Amino acid sequence: MKISKLARSIAESPTFALNEEARILRERGEPVINMGIGEPKNKTPISAILSSASKLSEGNVKYTPPDGLPSLKKAIIHYTEENYDRIVSPENVIISAGAKQSLFNILYSILDPQDEVIILAPYWVSYPEMVRMVYGIPVIVTPEDGTFTPRMQDIERAYSSNTKAIIVNSPNNPSGEVFSDTFISEIVDFCEHNGIYLIMDDIYHKLVFDQRKWMPAYQFSQKDIESTSIIVVNGVAKLYGMTGFRIGWAIANRKLVSVMNNVLAQTTSCTSPVMQAAAEGALTGMQNIVENLRLMFQNNRDVIIQELRSFNGIRVNNPGGTFYCLPDFRAYSQNSVEISKFLLKKALVVSVPGKEFGMEGHIRLSFAGSIKDIREGIERIKWALDPTSPNEIYIGDRKVIRDWL
Ligand code: PMP
Repeated sequence: MKISKLARSIAESPTFALNEEARILRERGEPVINMGIGEPKNKTPISAILSSASKLSEGNVKYTPPDGLPSLKKAIIHYTEENYDRIVSPENVIISAGAKQSLFNILYSILDPQDEVIILAPYWVSYPEMVRMVYGIPVIVTPEDGTFTPRMQDIERAYSSNTKAIIVNSPNNPSGEVFSDTFISEIVDFCEHNGIYLIMDDIYHKLVFDQRKWMPAYQFSQKDIESTSIIVVNGVAKLYGMTGFRIGWAIANRKLVSVMNNVLAQTTSCTSPVMQAAAEGALTGMQNIVENLRLMFQNNRDVIIQELRSFNGIRVNNPGGTFYCLPDFRAYSQNSVEISKFLLKKALVVSVPGKEFGMEGHIRLSFAGSIKDIREGIERIKWALDPTSPNEIYIGDRKVIRDWL
């Protein structure tokens, strides 16, 4: 029986696939270190647990409006005012199953077949696939100078009459790069001048290091919420480490939100009120958890960068945010898929090949795990690749000897 050409062409999510591989190895008792997937390890905030438990114990778990519970919208409106300095109305807010679903709904709602979306490399793996899933064309702009920030002139060159949007993610998965205010302001001007959408994926916006201040793109627009090009996407996954609750949202003009509302109503109906209550609890509860996560990741960042800088041949940027870095492994191989496979096989370390993010020769390492795992993970990678490192190592309680360098 038939599978559509389009569905067949959609790639498997490499991060989920690698995670599964790590899980199977761990189940077999192998001492795997997972530096692949990015997921904070913290426990769910108590305010989220209590709020969802209270919803559940009412025993009245029913459909909500497709775009979300009014009380959660209110919390998001408050969050937007506080963090974005923008007053928006409930008609500008739509809640979804994670930020991921909002991104998909936006693309579904703004693109016609063959319309183009500019995506900046390195990019989050799902953007090009999502654009393709709605018959659009991803147009990738890659920095030419070894940095992780593309040049404005290259973005301008990628623009055509078919361009409908640009997706920007800062702080960035997979590089950890936080784009400069000048760069964001130039992109805002560019989008508003050309009348195309600027989709800001702000999912990591609180995870910024070294006293740097994150600026919302709205800051660079004079236009009101109904006429600005900017669409904001955010969610509780990385803010509160609530990845499994699957609550995200988008903020956009009323017309787009009402179309997205129809799309949600005809597909998922709504997200679960229990999960929405959890998100509301997190947003209205104590916020020190966000700062604690940020400090923990900043500390982890310091450790991983120190370890990587003592590694012969590796070049690494200093991530300004998130919990990822994207070291350049080209001194060892141009083929990141092979390096990642090799690291899993020999060192039992899960990493994600840069090729998946449009950065061949690089490897994404997540530092969301424990300091112990970070140190041991990098030590194992060094042992596997760097001939100047000691050729014996303990992996778990097994002593292993390197016999391939
Ligand atoms: N955008 C980016 C850049 C991400 O890294 C992720 C999660 N890995 C998401 C969106 C999706 O977030 P959610 O879990 O809320 O769907």
